[in-house]
Amino acid sequence: MNQDFDVAVIGLGPAGSLTALLLESYGLKVIAIDRDQDIYSLPRAVTISDQGLRIAQTASIEDIYLSNSTELGGAGFVDKDLEIIGGALDLKGVVTSNGWMPSRMFHQPLTDKAIREKLQKTTATILLEHELIDIEDETTHVNFSIRDLKNKSDLQFTSRYLIGSDGGSSTVRKLLEIPQEDLNYNRDW
Ligand SMILES: Cc1cc2nc3c(=O)[nH]c(=O)nc-3n(C[C@H](O)[C@H](O)[C@H](O)COP(=O)(O)OP(=O)(O)OC[C@H]3O[C@@H](n4cnc5c(N)ncnc54)[C@H](O)[C@@H]3O)c2cc1C
Repeated sequence: MNQDFDVAVIGLGPAGSLTALLLESYGLKVIAIDRDQDIYSLPRAVTISDQGLRIAQTASIEDIYLSNSTELGGAGFVDKDLEIIGGALDLKGVVTSNGWMPSRMFHQPLTDKAIREKLQKTTATILLEHELIDIEDETTHVNFSIRDLKNKSDLQFTSRYLIGSDGGSSTVRKLLEIPQEDLNYNRDW
């Protein structure tokens, strides 16, 4: 396997998968890595905005969202009899300057799975069950180490850029000692 890439994308959740698709479509040599074999099976994200759809359209994956989502017709507070109390927002028929409806509710496992399948058909090198364990920033390029979790072996790669899209407990953030501000949210999720 050629070990030199333009961009390494660490983490193949929706953010990393979309990023890898976009960069590959620009003709860049992409390696995309995730420690898990499969996409996460539970939904976390639930809505996609007009801007999200516009970005999805740039990567030619808007159909994935459109066929797995429902247009949000509006929003408002209701009482126990479903009577609107206070303000309400009617979004029916609204198309924003991004060319899409303001919001759609989608099912994340279905969309993430379809995006993963689309990515697997591109020229990007995809390593699943591989985990980022070390990064050396050499200014002009990045050396990084990946652990093959199945074979228990370590692999070395080089890329011009490395993108940390590895979620809330990001290894990239920890390895590069990127500070994080804690706003003291006290719910356990
Ligand atoms: C309970 C809950 C509710 C949420 N509700 C919403 C919502 O309503 N709307 C919304 O937009 N968002 C919501 N979110 C946030 C949601 O998680 C994100 O929108 C979205 O799933 C994040 O995508 P991501 O690609 O950034 O990260 P993730 O989906 O977390 O993907 C990160 C990936 O990185 C991989 N990874 C991590 N470390 C490594 C490593 N060292 N090496 C290799 N791979 C690695 C992981 O295996 C994972 O696949 C919610 C989150 C939670 C937990």
